Amino acid sequence: MVGLSNSEKLILLFLYNWERPIRAGDLFQTLRKEYNFDRSRQTLHSLVKKLRKNELISWEPHRLVRLTEIGKEHALHITWHMHLLENYFQETLDLKAVVRRKEALRLTPIVSCEFIDAITKFHQDDCELKEAIKAGNLCTEESKALEEGGYSE
Ligand SMILES: [Zn+2]
Ligand SMILES: [Zn+2]
Repeated sequence: MVGLSNSEKLILLFLYNWERPIRAGDLFQTLRKEYNFDRSRQTLHSLVKKLRKNELISWEPHRLVRLTEIGKEHALHITWHMHLLENYFQETLDLKAVVRRKEALRLTPIVSCEFIDAITKFHQDDCELKEAIKAGNLCTEESKALEEGGYSE
């Protein structure tokens, strides 16, 4: 996850939750409408190409955009961050569901694994996110690696 821009994280987050391949044009429309994506079509195009170069997604012109296996891991990790943020808001603040989602979406690309780790205590064990355990492990691994200074970009 280190080295990904906020917009790239948003794209991965979206693709994970969309759960199926998507046309590049539809990706742009849906990101704008539902993920507060405020960049141009051209910017999205270069972000998609960059994600492909880093082997996080596969895509050819006129073909569908889809997550690779490595892409899926990153996307799950980001999904976990958003899930815990929403959960934290739900447990601690009096906010409407739609506001919780909007704020979580805004914060997800910028919060650290360390922060997520600190709010995990508000999370219930009976989680509806089907890959919660795997996601939690990805998060722990990354915060450990960061603590040890193991990542170089
Ligand atoms: Zn949960
Ligand atoms: Zn994390």
